[in-house]
Amino acid sequence: MERMSPPPDMSGRKVVYTERQGRIRYTYYDDGLVKITKYKHKSRVRWGRVIVALIFFLLCSYAVAHLIGAVASAISGKKKAASEKEFIFDSSISEAVEVGKEPAVTPETESKAEEVKPEPEKPAEPEVKKLDFKVCLDPGHGDYDVGIMNAQGVTESSQNLEFAMLVKEQLEAMGVSVVMTRTDNVNVSMDERCSLANKTGCDLFISLHMSGSNDPYDGSKGVTVLINNASPAMDSLLASNILDALSKAGISQSNGVQPGFMGMPESNYQINTNTVMPSCQVELGYLTSDEDALLYNEKKLDYAKAVAEAAAKTAKELNVIGDDGKRLLTGQLMSEGKSHIIVNEDTPIGSV
Ligand SMILES: [Zn+2]
Repeated sequence: MERMSPPPDMSGRKVVYTERQGRIRYTYYDDGLVKITKYKHKSRVRWGRVIVALIFFLLCSYAVAHLIGAVASAISGKKKAASEKEFIFDSSISEAVEVGKEPAVTPETESKAEEVKPEPEKPAEPEVKKLDFKVCLDPGHGDYDVGIMNAQGVTESSQNLEFAMLVKEQLEAMGVSVVMTRTDNVNVSMDERCSLANKTGCDLFISLHMSGSNDPYDGSKGVTVLINNASPAMDSLLASNILDALSKAGISQSNGVQPGFMGMPESNYQINTNTVMPSCQVELGYLTSDEDALLYNEKKLDYAKAVAEAAAKTAKELNVIGDDGKRLLTGQLMSEGKSHIIVNEDTPIGSV
């Protein structure tokens, strides 16, 4: 093993100069000695600087990121605001107008709006085609004269009035004028009823009644329409139109159009003799028949429509009005050939 020589004593020597070549430093002394110092390859890490640099870098990154975020947010905010603006189209000025902003009013748009702006549309009303004729509706009986009363206590007078009011509604909905001989539970004489219809210029007279039987189990039921026993053509037409329409609406049975008083054809009801216009008395089923009572309760509106439509049909067929509902006839419709024989004032039950 080679023994290393001890390092020379450098005291008393003066350094002449030093030079460095790469990792080696040469130190020249005044006595010619050269000291060679070899630096180890060792990088010195200055951790303090690294940490400071890192913190600075992080701070800068944060600041830049924050700035970018703020700018991006501002841009997207603007875009969003623009995209979220609602627009309405004001047809009056043919421009999109931002909600919440008054449209710019220029003389041009102002005058344009005045010109074009439509009137606020009125709700469409169903056009009622007026049928220009007049019907007298006569609910039979009233007050102390209750007519028929069934086992349940239903009176003919009240049911006649209820039904007449339903027919009135239907006729008026068609634009037909209606005269009522009574609208309440009052007694009106036969003379007054006929006189009212004659004086008010009615074209048709329809008296509304119900039949009844002393024996509710005898099977009496169905609708009968009674006319003057001379069977005037116009009265017959009115009666058959009504009966046909009711039959279509659904009745227990049709007892037909009958002349005269019910069961007494030689006599007449006063309303069929003292009225000047076509007239008839409708017996809308038997109040004493359970079947008819049920049908009435179920179909009274259909029955009312049927009677109203039959009246309109008759007015057209008798040329009182045209198909367009306009009146063709001058003056009141008069029925020719009514016989004015004795009115049977005795009104036996079942034939009222
Ligand atoms: Zn009656």
